[in-house]
Formats: sequence, structure tokens, C-alpha cells
Amino acid sequence: MAGETKSYVGKPKTFAALREEIASGKTKAADLAASYYARIEELNPHLNVYLSLTKERAAEQASRIDALAAKGDSLPPLAGIPVGIKDVLVTKGAASTAGSKILKGYHPPYDCTAVARLESAGAVVLGKLNCDEFAMGSSNENSAYGPVRNPVDPERVPGGSSGGSAAAVAADMAVATLGTDTGGSIRQPASFCGVVGVLPTYGRVSRYGLIAYGSSLDRIGPFAANVRDAATVLGLIAGSDPMDSTCLSAPVEDYAAESDKPVEGLKIGVPAEYFAEGLDPEVRAAIEKGIDALKAAGCTVKPVSLPHTKYAVPVYYLIATAEASANLSRFDGVRYGYRSPDSATLSDMYSHSRDEGFGAEVKRRILLGTYALSAGYYDAYYLKAQQVRRILAEEFLRAFTDVDAIVTPTAPTPAFKLGEKTSDPVSMYLADIYTVTASLAGICGVTVPCGATAAGLPVGMQVLAKHLGESTAFRVARAVEAAGI
Ligand code: GLN
Repeated sequence: MAGETKSYVGKPKTFAALREEIASGKTKAADLAASYYARIEELNPHLNVYLSLTKERAAEQASRIDALAAKGDSLPPLAGIPVGIKDVLVTKGAASTAGSKILKGYHPPYDCTAVARLESAGAVVLGKLNCDEFAMGSSNENSAYGPVRNPVDPERVPGGSSGGSAAAVAADMAVATLGTDTGGSIRQPASFCGVVGVLPTYGRVSRYGLIAYGSSLDRIGPFAANVRDAATVLGLIAGSDPMDSTCLSAPVEDYAAESDKPVEGLKIGVPAEYFAEGLDPEVRAAIEKGIDALKAAGCTVKPVSLPHTKYAVPVYYLIATAEASANLSRFDGVRYGYRSPDSATLSDMYSHSRDEGFGAEVKRRILLGTYALSAGYYDAYYLKAQQVRRILAEEFLRAFTDVDAIVTPTAPTPAFKLGEKTSDPVSMYLADIYTVTASLAGICGVTVPCGATAAGLPVGMQVLAKHLGESTAFRVARAVEAAGI
């Protein structure tokens, strides 16, 4: 594949268009799924987006939808819509590897709540999507099953960790997908691949069935080719769940309808800290055009100050790795997946299974996190990081007393080349600067395509809103989308 420069970008139809086709009988859900499987077969060898396919499950669901349509019954909101699921979300009886060798062969006995809700809304689950191992990464190069390639330019990364989820929509290998975002893993790949990605408020979507990375940060959210469809998916997966006690019971708004509302009169904050050193000039120029479009649509734009932004990367990498070290202790060769074959003692079996089952980045993070939590270092690192996290959250809340939404670049650069940052993990971590802040603060956001570089690489604008402010974020993102930058 080296030297390949071909683009694999596709354009998924909108939910509304597909719904019309299915309801009128013009298209059968089964044929639609078959056409997506044909496209996957053609493109997956080039892009490595899907790790496994769930053809039987898709066929059952599609025939259920086709039977409803044939009877003229009312159809559920996502009737027949082909979707893909990040492989950190468990699917009953179907491979769920989290991009790790240690979970090879693991077939969970239950479904993730978000996946079950998508299916009961009529969606057809095509398969499971590649990602960085246990969602740890920003380029999808940490998958045990090989990197995903960016459909816009296969020499480049799709971003991570939900690289497969972003690339699937960009290449029209699914109409919408689910991913997870702990420090940027939905927003950054969406921006690298030129699609819409949503970070819901912490607790808005149940985490039941999400293979945990950093539990106080992990969120499940949608990817789609347009803001309205992403808003529709969020509305269907959000809401309280008895299986996750951290899930919020606040009523779920009709995000799609809310996103239709005009933005005139909204106050938009622009933080200088997100336009400082390290920001690619072409990304800056594209985002400035987006800000101008918001002004033209009747928004008031004003500066806001988030002075502790510079501490966000170290704080995030302390808290996320500390939580990961605890969460990943369950993978011991006994209860799930891979077990090292020839160990003389039980403790050898534990350590060999973990040594052979986990990849280098996951091990690095378990070490970092275990260190940060260890007696003698806990106060200096973990506790201090928690204190700064609180300051960062309060800073956002203060800013939101003055503005309705905050806009920033989603990432400091467009998609980088495969291999460009793999030898320098710290430079990879530092590139998460614009996304980890909202993760630490628990607030919500949407990334929306906002122009491209001269070389045609997509740029994403991040629209942040306060806790449970999704409707506002969608409205602003719609206005940027409508400007067609
Ligand atoms: N890039 C960040 C990390 O590596 C974020 C990952 C994520 O959001 N899951 O931790």
C-alpha cells in the first residue's frame, strides 16, 4: 500500500433520504446492508477500518425492518440505517477486542446499552471498528490489528483512538458510527477525517458495556456525516440507565430539532490559549473563517480566558493512566481472552499473559498510572492532578456564565503521516491539548468540518458548551456546517 495517494472518501446519504427510500419500499434494508458489505469488502483491504463483521445480526435486523416496511407499519427512527461500532463497545456473542490481542477471541455475553438502543431504534449493526488498543492513542497506530488509514489520504493517520469510527463515515463504510472519547478520541479523528463527532456531557450516555479506559473521563458518542444526523443518534442513545449509576437522568432533548434553531443572538467565546504557539497556520485560518461565519449568522464573538489550559495535558495523562492502571488489572489471563500457554506457576501465567497480551503503549500507561498512584507519590501526582482538574472545570464554568458556547480548533494540526509521531509518545500526547480540557471538565462538545488545508486535509472546529448544553453546541455546529467553508 506504500506510496498510495488515492482518496477513498465517500458521501453517506442523510438519514432523512434513506428513511424515505426505505419507507417507500424503493430500497430494502437488506439490500442496503448488502451494498455496504460490498463496499466494505472493497475498501477494507486498503483502510483497515473494520475488525470484524456482524453479518447475521445485520441480516436479522434488516429483515425485521423490511417486514415492518412491507406491512406499512410505522418505522423506528433509524430503520435500516447501517452503523458501525467501535470495538471497545461490547456486542453480545460478537468479537469485542478493544483493539487488543489480550481480548482476542472474547465474545461478551451482553450488549452495550448504547448499541442496544441504536438497534432498538432500527439501526443495522454492520460490524466492529478498529481503534487504538483500549482507546489509548491519537493515531490508531496502537491497534494490535494494524493502523487504520485516513480515507482522505491513506498515507496519513485517521486520528485516534476512534480512527475506525471516523474513517468508516468518511469512506461511507457506515452511515453513522459510535466511538468513545476519553481525552479527544471522538473529536480528533472526526476532525482528521472531515466528519462530525460528538462528545456528550459526562454521564449523558450510559457507559454500560464500554470496556473502561479512564472511568471518570470515558464517554460514548456518535459520528455522522452531518450535524443533524449526529444529533439524532445522540438523542437515541442518551438518557438514564439502571446499569450505570453515573448516568444522568436529566430529560433528553430533541437534539436534532434543537439543532435546526438559528444561532442569531448567541454569544460565542474564543479562548486565546487555543490559538497560541503550535497551532498550524492553515488550521488557524480555517477556524477564523468559521468564526467569521458565526458572526455573519448573527452571533456575538468575544474573548474568554482559560489560563490553566497549559496544565491540561499533564493532568489528563496522570488521571487517565491512573484510572487505566486500575481498570486494566482485570485482564489477567483468567477471566477474558488471551492466556499465555506455558507458565509453570499462577503468577507466571498472570505476568506472561499481560506481557504477551498488551501492546507497548498500554504497558507504558499501566506503568505511569501505577507509579502516580503508588504510596509516596500519590499526593504529589494524582492528588495534585485532581486539584488542577477542579480548577480547569471551574474556569470553564466561569467562562460559560458569559458565553453560550466556546469555539476552538479541534486539533493543532491536520492529520499527520503514519509513523510521524510513533517514536515520540510525548509529542503525540501534547497534540491532545485542545481536547483533553473538555474531557477533564466533563462538559460537552461537537466537532464540525470547517474547511481544509491547501493540500485538501480536513480541519475541524470544536464547539464546546456547558454540562448538558448539547443543544447549543449542535446549533452552533449547524451554523458552521451551513456556511460550507
Ligand atoms: N489521545 C488520548 C489518549 O491517548 C485520548 C484517547 C481517548 O480519548 N480515548 O489517551
